[in-house]
Amino acid sequence: MASLTVLAGPTAVGKGAVVAALLRKYPNVYLSVSATTRPARPGEVDGVHYHFLTDAQFDQLVCNNGLLEWALVHGQYRYGTPKAAVEAHLATGQPVLVEIDLAGVRQIRQTMPAAKFIFLAPPSWDELVARLRGRGTEDEAEQQRRLETAKVELAAASEFDLTIVNDEVETAVTRLAEAMGLA
Ligand code: 5GP
Repeated sequence: MASLTVLAGPTAVGKGAVVAALLRKYPNVYLSVSATTRPARPGEVDGVHYHFLTDAQFDQLVCNNGLLEWALVHGQYRYGTPKAAVEAHLATGQPVLVEIDLAGVRQIRQTMPAAKFIFLAPPSWDELVARLRGRGTEDEAEQQRRLETAKVELAAASEFDLTIVNDEVETAVTRLAEAMGLA
């Protein structure tokens, strides 16, 4: 059985950049495509970035036991990991990576304790705030909401098997690849 790696980390820590660079370097890794009730942002493609679902469709998936985990993220929209795709890729021997929030991590810890849990951390709190403000994709209220969530997530870093500090994307990718047994 191939390995499942669960990656989490606070908002704006750079999970997207690290994961994208990892996939470029290791194209055999399957990145789980989450289901969400959040509307697509400009440029996001259904089935590629997320499976964009209505509330009713998401309810159905939950009812059918189709999700490995799911959570209400930032108190707003539901996000979940489709079970079938993860299991199918693991069964073919492909390493699987899921990138989810802390509530989801805690659920997978219960149901799949053999998974590897990795926390991506910012070099410092100030740097995290600067990255969030710098990308300018959220308004002030949303930034505050995300920073509140980030505090809770940073406090939970010790629940993970490994913390990788994202000081530089290339270095973080190398550490992640090593932890996943790819390098
Ligand atoms: P965004 O809306 O910015 O794409 O994602 C917001 C947050 O949702 C991210 O921090 C990410 O960790 C979390 N998230 C994305 N997919 C999932 C999922 O399938 N399950 C859970 N629990 N969280 C997810």
